Amino acid sequence: MSKNAIITGGTRGLGEAMTLKLGDMGYNVAINYTSERSGALADALVQKLKEEKGVDAIAVKADVSDYDACEQLVKTALDHFQGQLDVLINNAGITNNCNFIDLQPKDYMRVINTNLVSMMHMSHLCLPHLVDHDSCIVNTASVGGLVGVVNQADYCAAKTGVIGLTRALALEFAPRKVRVNAIAPGMIMTDMLRGVNQDELRALAATIPLGYIGEPADIAGCMEYILTAPYLTGQTISPNGGFVMP
Ligand code: NAP
Repeated sequence: MSKNAIITGGTRGLGEAMTLKLGDMGYNVAINYTSERSGALADALVQKLKEEKGVDAIAVKADVSDYDACEQLVKTALDHFQGQLDVLINNAGITNNCNFIDLQPKDYMRVINTNLVSMMHMSHLCLPHLVDHDSCIVNTASVGGLVGVVNQADYCAAKTGVIGLTRALALEFAPRKVRVNAIAPGMIMTDMLRGVNQDELRALAATIPLGYIGEPADIAGCMEYILTAPYLTGQTISPNGGFVMP
């Protein structure tokens, strides 16, 4: 029987690579996005998954920082998948990249709500459908969840929270056959990194032991491993070129 997945922030960067990998693995995919510009990307990915990978797909617009929007997203996906759900990839995330004194409460709350609270919303809504049939949640954390990063206090707080959420849900839902793991990427070339100061980025990249910035495919490969590793739960795997060794 075919398996079904929901991915948040599934049209760009790491999300796009993971969406395509899910298709390669034979999953039908509900691809979430939120911005107007990603609507066309989502539609193109749906076509690609159907035509090139032979799986079913649906694009669903929703701001995952909002519980009601998550509820609508999960309902739309479940209606499409006749109620069966096997995988939730919590990937949506943003960063402010701002010193803490200048950071405004509404801005740090947006980072916390988008990066962490969204994963609580989505897990809360999906877990009733994931229990008791060998299912998985994969959360995108960050090396910022493992170590401190200058100008990323809100982001680091959110991503450390993601790792805590991952461990606690893994423990609580292991008896119900749901594995919960996190990926903590290092520097990976996406729009998120293209948005930061490129001179600073080059200087930072020079300190990566493997000597280069990673590609979204590195993270999609890690997701594939997690989905196919039946003894793995409660773990955070960090593909980061040796940049952080916790
Ligand atoms: P990206 O290219 O900027 O993509 C961010 C994604 O998150 C987009 O798909 C975006 O959707 C989605 N998103 C943002 N706010 C959302 C919301 N309120 N509701 C639904 N979707 C929302 O960045 P990326 O590098 O691929 O980041 C993906 C994840 O990896 C994030 O959690 C990020 O923190 C994490 N990460 C990235 C790196 C890195 O170096 N790139 C390192 C560590 C961790 P739209 O397309 O609709 O805007």
